[in-house]
Amino acid sequence: MRFARLAPPDQDRPAFFARLEGAAALVLDAPPWLGGKTTGEAVGWTEVDLACPVVPTKIVCVGRNYAAHAQELGNDVPVEPLLFLKPPSALIGPDQSIVLPPESQRVEHEAELGVIIGRRCKAVRLEEAADHVLGYTCLGDITARDLQRKDVQFTRGKGFDTFCPVGPWIETELDPSALRVRGVVNGQVRQDGLTAQMIWSVPALVAYISRVMTLEPGDVIATGTPQGVGPLASGDELVIDIAGATAGAPGIGALRVSVAAQHNGAGAR
Ligand code: ZN
Repeated sequence: MRFARLAPPDQDRPAFFARLEGAAALVLDAPPWLGGKTTGEAVGWTEVDLACPVVPTKIVCVGRNYAAHAQELGNDVPVEPLLFLKPPSALIGPDQSIVLPPESQRVEHEAELGVIIGRRCKAVRLEEAADHVLGYTCLGDITARDLQRKDVQFTRGKGFDTFCPVGPWIETELDPSALRVRGVVNGQVRQDGLTAQMIWSVPALVAYISRVMTLEPGDVIATGTPQGVGPLASGDELVIDIAGATAGAPGIGALRVSVAAQHNGAGAR
């Protein structure tokens, strides 16, 4: 199933969740991770109606989960998953803008598979971890690389407003180990990796993270980025595309966002 959050720009109603079936959006009475049921109302939708599909209490990110990416930044592959958090205030949705902060001279894209938790879990066992996942989406772990290096701690470099584009929707019927993650800037493919290359699988990450912190329904895990990270400049278009790893295999789709310079100290949100 495919779940989206819709915010039609020409309507006065607040953003709402829906199950997408072709051109129809079946309106839900609650977010899908809280067991939202269809209300019986169906509306038409187009891409301009899509909003960020997640509303997490936290975004848990995994660093260096692809060996080739750890290598390109001169890092060893860690012996345990490397965890950090992005604040929910960093989220943007499809067709919104990543805003480059004046503090950084080097903002980079990291295209990643995002995991949405469907059931609360604490110290879940590996064999049961997949049962706690609702679905998957495309996620950008946007990073001010110079600030990340300068601070050592990742909070500032990874935490600016607009540094976590997510969308275009949540796909539930997927094999997370059989996907192809691509990061495309201005039509040029910079990142192209297979989730089969992840050092820690999605179930392994859910089990590991849930030993540290309770994962709430709707929480998001960013599973790490394949090699090919690179700089973003004002005016760029970033596409994070997640397809099936083999021809005809199910994927997610493409999340498209733009990149803008910050004007007069005010963000684009
Ligand atoms: Zn990342």
